[in-house]
Amino acid sequence: MEVASALRQLIQIPQNVAILSHRNPDGDAIGSSLALRHYLEQYGHTVHVIFPSEYPEEFEALPGAEEILIWDIHTEESKQVLQRKNLLFFLDFNAYNRIDKLGDFVKPLNATRVMIDHHLYPDDIADFLFSDPSYSSTCEMVYRFIEAMDDKIKINPTVGKCIYTGIVTDTGSFRHATNASIFRITADLIERGMNDTSVQDMIFNSQKEKNLRLLGHCLANRMEYWPEFKTALIWLSKKDYETFQIQRGDTEGIVNYLLSIKDVRIAAFIHNQPTVVKLSLRSKGNIDVQEMCHTHFNGGGHRNASGAYSHDSLKATIDKFKAILPLYTEQILKS
Ligand code: 5GP
Ligand code: MN
Repeated sequence: MEVASALRQLIQIPQNVAILSHRNPDGDAIGSSLALRHYLEQYGHTVHVIFPSEYPEEFEALPGAEEILIWDIHTEESKQVLQRKNLLFFLDFNAYNRIDKLGDFVKPLNATRVMIDHHLYPDDIADFLFSDPSYSSTCEMVYRFIEAMDDKIKINPTVGKCIYTGIVTDTGSFRHATNASIFRITADLIERGMNDTSVQDMIFNSQKEKNLRLLGHCLANRMEYWPEFKTALIWLSKKDYETFQIQRGDTEGIVNYLLSIKDVRIAAFIHNQPTVVKLSLRSKGNIDVQEMCHTHFNGGGHRNASGAYSHDSLKATIDKFKAILPLYTEQILKS
């Protein structure tokens, strides 16, 4: 990391730091943000973590989660806090449009910006850019960042727990985007006192009963499968949102069940959230759902996991998704 020595000097002196991550923060967003916070605080920095919107409830168990400022809820406080900041970290996102109004507020601020992110095609919005889509997760990058600062000694069980959270969630519990390094990092975190089973429990064994029933509904009543395109879809209507009282995070992970069908190569989850229709696409192998989301729905993400928003109706969005599949037949059948 070439930027390391300049950054190392910067963080030696206590700064007023804000760590920002993307809308609908996932385990990697919250894990990387809190890991960095607990690391930086060991230098005496004043650190606030600020997200545009709320995070899924299970992550309330992470140390420091309760102090996170949510722009949608704590707008005024977030503004006041941000105005005093001179060092901003952008974690797990690479364009201002991923943080909406928070981005509009942050753009003109006079502060040094550091981006640590593993999505494709970063915007030129940081003074220090640490962007590499070959990493499994931003949490893995935060580990490498701390290592590049010569500070592995500062990876205590709390920092380790937060890092491990994003590694587990962004690799689907070591099912994809894995490599030798991710297992070595995990081993190192465990040796440094991180309790891995407590993280797995927090993520996978903290479901509410209603979410299991929602999953049953999705699989039994809302699933479509087109073997000719090796594609499966789950959709949810506005009415489903009411019936199951769906809240933030409740639909997380549902799309992945489709990938467990033997021949499925593309999995889609299209749901009519209260204000917008959201698409989540997942793929196996070389099929590029990032390109699909970007070209047809103005979204993005990673090759095998991408998302987008649609301002069309649920039906129109599903129809559009079905209509573009033939464009990808060759890619799908080759995979
Ligand atoms: P999810 O489907 O779980 O919301 O997101 C999957 C991946 O795609 C994540 O890395 C997420 O950051 C990215 N993503 C989701 N929605 C959007 C979007 O509207 N625009 C862009 N650029 N990326 C998105
Ligand atoms: Mn991530």
